[in-house]
Amino acid sequence: MEGARDQRVGETANAHKVIKIAIASKEDLEDYNGEKHTKLSVRPGAQTTYPGSNSHFHPKSNPFSRDKLYTEARFAVTTRAMSDAEEEEHSKLYGRANMTMRPDVIDSSGKPLKVIGVQNTVGRPRSDALNKKISAFPREFVRVLGIFFNQQDIKHISNDRTTLLTDEQKRNGMQLGVWRIKQGGKFTAIYRHRAGAEEIFGPVFKFGVATSPAQKQKIAAIFKWDSVSGFETQDDTEDFTEHLRVIREFRITSTMTVGQYVNTPWHIAYLPISMEQMHLQHYESFSMRCRRCARAFYEYKEMHASYSDTPIEYRQYPTRFWKRVGSKAHEASQPFHEDYFWIKNTTRNDTHNPARISRVRAEDVGNRSLLPQDVPGGHQNWEVELFDISKTDNTRAHNKAELRYKAHSNHLYEYAKNASIVQGRPNTRAKVALYDTGFKLRRVSAYSNVCMDCAADMDRLGLTRCRVWYRW
Ligand SMILES: [Zn+2]
Repeated sequence: MEGARDQRVGETANAHKVIKIAIASKEDLEDYNGEKHTKLSVRPGAQTTYPGSNSHFHPKSNPFSRDKLYTEARFAVTTRAMSDAEEEEHSKLYGRANMTMRPDVIDSSGKPLKVIGVQNTVGRPRSDALNKKISAFPREFVRVLGIFFNQQDIKHISNDRTTLLTDEQKRNGMQLGVWRIKQGGKFTAIYRHRAGAEEIFGPVFKFGVATSPAQKQKIAAIFKWDSVSGFETQDDTEDFTEHLRVIREFRITSTMTVGQYVNTPWHIAYLPISMEQMHLQHYESFSMRCRRCARAFYEYKEMHASYSDTPIEYRQYPTRFWKRVGSKAHEASQPFHEDYFWIKNTTRNDTHNPARISRVRAEDVGNRSLLPQDVPGGHQNWEVELFDISKTDNTRAHNKAELRYKAHSNHLYEYAKNASIVQGRPNTRAKVALYDTGFKLRRVSAYSNVCMDCAADMDRLGLTRCRVWYRW
C-alpha cells in the first residue's frame, strides 16, 4: 500500500476506489499522521484498516464464505389461505384491513393467509463442500493464491505497529506448512518441516513444476491483489481465464480441504471487514458456523450463566477462557463451560421434568450458603453448579462455595459436530495464542452466529455498533 494520502487523490476520479480507503475523513488522516491511532474509523468493506496493514477481501469476493459452506439458516412463518368461515370470523374480531393491506398476508388469489406455524431451519455444514480440496473451487483457489502473492506482513487488525507474521513466514507457511518444535525448553513455530517437528497446519498448495524466481515474479504480477481480491471490479463474475491458465501451466495443486483451510491464519487475516450490527439478521436462524469466518462452533450440551447468587465480581467469568492446571504450553485455554471445571450438583433432576417445580421446604427459604441437597431444582428452579477455580491457572484466592452459576441446556448441541481447532486467528491480545491447539470456538452470545474472534476484531474497529457482545 502506498500512503493513504495518495489513495485519497483517486477518490473523486474513480468512485469505486473510495472503498479502498480505510480512513474516513481529513481529520482521521491528520490523526493518523499525528499517531493518534485510536481515533481512526474504518468503513465496512474497506481493504485495509491502516495504510500498509492487512489487505482484506471485498465482501462479495470473500473466498469460502459461510454461505458457500453451509445451508441457509432461516426462520420462516408458515401460512395457508383462510377458509371462508375463518375469514368471516377473523373479520368480525379484527376488521378486514389487517387481512389485505400487506402483500405478504394474502396469497396469489387475494385470499388472506393464516399463520399455522413457524419453521426454524438450522444452517448446517455442506460436507460436500467442506471435504473437497480447495483447488476443486477454481475461483476461490485463485483468491487463495492471491493471498500468497500479496506482498504484505500480517498485522494486528487494529494495530498497524504489531507485525504478527512476516510476509516470508506467511509464504513459507502456505507452501511448506507450519510446524512446532521444542527449542530451549520452549515450543516455537517454524515454517518448514524439520525432524521431530509437529505439524500445526499443512501446506496450502504446491507447484507441480520447478519455477524460477523470474517466473514466480511473473506469476505474482498475474495474481495481483487488486485483481483477485474483488476491489478492482467488485464483481463476483470477473474473468479468471489467465489465472486458471497459470494454475494449469505450473500444475499448482492443493491437498488441503476447504474445512481445513478456513481454520488457517491465512484465511482469518484476509477476511472482509464487515459491519456486525445484529446477532441474528432478519429471518436468520442459528447456524453451526460463524457468519464471517465460516469456522465451526463448539457446542456444549450444558452451559452456565451467572445469576443473582453469583457474586458480582465473578459474573463475567462465563465469557472468559480458562487454562487448565498442568496443561501443555501450547494448549489453548478452555471455555468456561468445559465439564472439567465443574462440580456437578448431585441432586440434579431432569430439566424438562415438570415434577421439578415443587415447593421449597420452609427451612430452606433464604438459605443460600449451600447447594440444596433435597430441594429439587435449586435456586428459582435453575440447576445450580459450582465452578472449581482450583482446576484453573487462576491464582487469586477464591472461596469455592461462592462461584455458583446456573446451568442450562444448549438447544444447538444436537446439531454440533464438535471438534477443537487450532487458534488460527492472528492476534496478540487474545488469551488463546496463535497456533494454540485444542481451541473451542464460541459464539459471542448464545443468540448469535458471530464468533468471539470476529466480534472482537470488528468491535476494535468500531464496527459492531451494539453493546451486547461478550455476554456468554
Ligand atoms: Zn468468526
